[in-house]
Amino acid sequence: MSASATSSATQDRIPVTVLTGYLGAGKTTLLNRLLTEQHGKRYAVIVNEFGQIGIDNELVVDAEEEVFEMNNGCICCTVRGDLIRIIGNLVKRKERFDAILIETTGLADPAPVAQTFFVDADVKAVAKLDSIVTVVDARNVLARLDDSHEAAEQIAFADVILLNKADLVTADDLAALESRLRGINPTAVVHRTERCVIPLEEVLGRRAFDLDRILAIEPNFLGEDDHEHDDAVTSIALHETQPIDVNKFNKWIGRLLQEKGQSILRSKGILDVRGSPNRFVFQAVHMLIERDDGKAWGLDEKRNSKLVFIGRDLETMDLKAGFAACIA
Ligand SMILES: [Zn+2]
Ligand SMILES: [Zn+2]
Repeated sequence: MSASATSSATQDRIPVTVLTGYLGAGKTTLLNRLLTEQHGKRYAVIVNEFGQIGIDNELVVDAEEEVFEMNNGCICCTVRGDLIRIIGNLVKRKERFDAILIETTGLADPAPVAQTFFVDADVKAVAKLDSIVTVVDARNVLARLDDSHEAAEQIAFADVILLNKADLVTADDLAALESRLRGINPTAVVHRTERCVIPLEEVLGRRAFDLDRILAIEPNFLGEDDHEHDDAVTSIALHETQPIDVNKFNKWIGRLLQEKGQSILRSKGILDVRGSPNRFVFQAVHMLIERDDGKAWGLDEKRNSKLVFIGRDLETMDLKAGFAACIA
């Protein structure tokens, strides 16, 4: 599929924002704001547990926990059956919704939600994952990172992080927190907030999962190879200035994600492929991968390749050597 076909198809599909965060971080506050502010949009909200959410025009659908392993029995790739059915029913309604919000209370790991949009053909035809937004409590996120597997995953999967309750910690603490978050996830946009006050366009309509859009966030990729060791979930950014052989790359990344996809939570990249006038872009959630041609390289542009991996035990995977072996 060409890049232009991707973007036109994307515009017809309903964008879906996934809201994650530890209990008490301020998710409900954010959801209330999304639902009550005058933005002229209509949202359907899918929640795991119905809370005290003030809803007027919007629709709240209660989701049962139901997570399927993929047919191939892969334990890192799971799809939510309830979500597939709910979205299918929502889009049958006469009044279409402008967007869908999924609040993941009681569902700590956002991967099965994201993966549903990667694999289910019916869902893919009508809805498009827009972004994963994670609300973090600045006062206790460090403690959560120490005692909870899920806290790190919610940060690892995020496209947008609200470092909330920022008014309740010192400026030094905030700076330290932010660098800890960046060590886990270098590509997310981090906003410091108080009571989740943030312009809604910073949260909604981000198109973070569009392959086209990955080009737009290119400046946020780390310019240099970077490596953090101090968290169980870490990130590695790789950079190559020589053109890549696309067949070698596809073989390498396919095999890597097949074998290590359980530990690699998210990955994305923009490649300079030898012989192609266009960028090659890809993203993956665990081992489920999407790839496409991106925007053409400009004549004066310095072509180069960047990859980012977020996950566990990345330093054991020889990522740098593996990528270097893909040079054309
Ligand atoms: Zn898998
Ligand atoms: Zn997990």
